[in-house]
Amino acid sequence: MRAVIFDIDDTLYPYDVCDKKGMNELYAAFLEYKEMSRSEFDLLVSQAKKAVKLRTGNTAASHNRMLYVQAMCELRGIFSPEKCIRLYNSYWDAFLDNMRLYDGAIELLEKLKTMGVAIGFCTDLTVHIQMRKLVKLGISHIPNAVVTSEECGFEKPDKSMFITMLEKLHASPSEAIMVGDSIEKDMEGAANCGIYPVLFGKKSDKYEYAENFEALYKILEGICR
Ligand SMILES: [Mg+2]
Repeated sequence: MRAVIFDIDDTLYPYDVCDKKGMNELYAAFLEYKEMSRSEFDLLVSQAKKAVKLRTGNTAASHNRMLYVQAMCELRGIFSPEKCIRLYNSYWDAFLDNMRLYDGAIELLEKLKTMGVAIGFCTDLTVHIQMRKLVKLGISHIPNAVVTSEECGFEKPDKSMFITMLEKLHASPSEAIMVGDSIEKDMEGAANCGIYPVLFGKKSDKYEYAENFEALYKILEGICR
C-alpha cells in the first residue's frame, strides 16, 4: 500500500467540542455589538447559515464562517468589515485553541511515514482554515498532500476530490486507503473511485471499521506492511 488518505474533522480530532467553544466566543463577541439572548443568537446563526447555503450550494464556501458572520451582521443591520473580521476570529481562535488530536493519532501518522507510506488529508471546507488546523494540531510535517473542496470546486463524495488526491500522491486507486468518519462522504466517495475505505469512530456492517486509533493501527499495519 502506497498511500493512506485521511479526512480531518472528526477523524483526526473531535469537532463538536471545538465548535461549541467557538460558538460561545462568537456569542460573547456578538453581544458587544448587539444585545440578544442565546436562543435569539442561535436562531440568527441558523438563519445566516441557511441564507449562505442557499447562495453557495454544495461548495466549500457554504462552510465559510466569514460569510456566516457577514450574513448575521446584515440580518441585524450592524454590518461592517471590521466587525466581521473580529467575529470570525473570535470563533476560529477559540476553535483552534481547543483542538486536540485523538489518542494515538500522531503515533500512527508518524509510523506510516517511517514505513514510506504517502499521507494525504482530503477535506471539505476552505484551504486556509484546514491548513491552520493542521499546523495547530502539530502535524504540519505529516502530509505529502492536502486536497480541499475549495480547490476542487466540489465536496466529498465528488470523485474530483479523490482523483485530485491520488494525482498529488502519485498513487493508483488500488494503492490507496481512505480513512474517514462519514459513510456518505468518505466511504462511498472513496469506494466509487476504487479506493479501499476504512470507517473511523463508528461501527458498520458494510465497511471495515476502527473505533479508535489503536484499532486503526492494527488494520493499517496489516495492509501497509
Ligand atoms: Mg469528517
